[in-house]
Amino acid sequence: MLRPEPEEPICSAKDCREPAEWVLAWNNPKIHQPERRKTWLACEAHREHLSKFLGVRGFLKDVVPFAEWTERESRPGAERDAT
Ligand SMILES: [Zn+2]
Repeated sequence: MLRPEPEEPICSAKDCREPAEWVLAWNNPKIHQPERRKTWLACEAHREHLSKFLGVRGFLKDVVPFAEWTERESRPGAERDAT
């Protein structure tokens, strides 16, 4: 079966169509396993706004440049880095 072309990764902020430059990794302890990571994408302009949104709720775990995140994801066994 053919899969649709992956969409160009864009910012998760409402009404924003900028390409994603950052990945915000977050977790809601009430509904997610502790090691589970949800991700939002952010352009440069929305990184702070979205980080704050997650940060005040205590959900934000990590903010990683998009390129670094995709590299991490493609490297098996590297998802639990202590540093
Ligand atoms: Zn944006």
